[in-house]
Amino acid sequence: MRRVYLDNSATTPVDPEVAELILTYYTTKYGNPSSIHSFGREAKKALEDARQQVADFIGAKSAQIVFTSGGTEADNMAVLGTAYANKHKGNHIITSAIEHHAILDTCLYLEKQGFKLTILPVDEDGLLHVEDVEKALTPETILVSVMHANNEVGTVQPIAEIGKLLKGKGIVFHTDAVQSLGKIPVNVDDLGVDLLTASAHKIYGPKGVGCLYIRKGTRIEALVHGGGQERKRRSGTENTPGIIGFGKACELAGQRLEADAAHLKNLRELMIKGIMETIPDVKLNGHPTERIPNNVNVSIRYVEGESLLLSLDMNGIAASSGSACTSGSLDPSHVLLAMGICHEIAHGSLRFSLGRANTVEDIDYVLEKLPGIVERLRAMSPLYDNERGCNSCTLKK
Ligand code: PLP
Repeated sequence: MRRVYLDNSATTPVDPEVAELILTYYTTKYGNPSSIHSFGREAKKALEDARQQVADFIGAKSAQIVFTSGGTEADNMAVLGTAYANKHKGNHIITSAIEHHAILDTCLYLEKQGFKLTILPVDEDGLLHVEDVEKALTPETILVSVMHANNEVGTVQPIAEIGKLLKGKGIVFHTDAVQSLGKIPVNVDDLGVDLLTASAHKIYGPKGVGCLYIRKGTRIEALVHGGGQERKRRSGTENTPGIIGFGKACELAGQRLEADAAHLKNLRELMIKGIMETIPDVKLNGHPTERIPNNVNVSIRYVEGESLLLSLDMNGIAASSGSACTSGSLDPSHVLLAMGICHEIAHGSLRFSLGRANTVEDIDYVLEKLPGIVERLRAMSPLYDNERGCNSCTLKK
């Protein structure tokens, strides 16, 4: 059976060039970068070269990159580290309703500790409005955290505009760029951010490694204490092979950014057009134009996303019904609910996230299988009634 992987926003395969490089740092160049002998110096040099590669990819300086165990840790470091370092200045944090749980749950954790939290709404395309950020600011605001691209619906937020609004106000501005990196240009100065989260396994690098970019002068309290690695900002022996793989993945993503984006966009448009033309009662979720090139998120009425996923899987097609971190739970996606989509329709949503290795034949295969799967599931669904529209949300007949 043909196998088609369309869950690249959950994770990507490691690029063979990256994998080959990583292996040498497990088997032959295995020194601890803190050791002063030649093995250690060799690892240290490679670690610092990787830091430069990551920095170059986002327009930063290498000293501003702190390696972490991934996007989740970098998000925690951004939110908690900023809150703890700035609590003498204020206690108000602003974020959006569609953030990844690594941000939302961390902000809610701080709220329990007495910090004040504003969670901003988004419109039906999943877009945050800059005026809402402006209105939410108070003299107590110490941090604004808004993701660059959403992991479920792919909407790209107006980060540069928010950056301009916050410039000179003494408020730390963080963006989670886990899903935008490698898909659209990400440059810390163009975006006007003080902190930026990135993760290697979404850009054909290894799992369990990421970084937080910290602009010079931005105060962050360390959360992990010990040997003083990463300039005392994140202790612990560095994941040298992982970091070196992350650096290489950034270098390759930089070289391929334009070609990858054009390829992904082409496949995405083919897929959206094909789904819309062959399946009735489908809504495309996310912004029609302001979206990353690899995301297709659709709500298919009268069917359960989980049943769709299982049927697709039986046909060798891997997709997702929301973010991978929350699948397995039957709660509808907080992102779709925040966009005004009702529970019933949110439950019937599917995310296809395309990757570098996908082909037109992959998309054709999905378009060959999906309409039949939907038809079969609808025939069994007590909800299927051609006459009704949904009155409680944005999907009208
Ligand atoms: N932020 C976003 C937007 C994500 O999509 C993810 C992972 O899906 C994360 C953070 C967490 O990153 P990691 O898996 O590296 O911990």
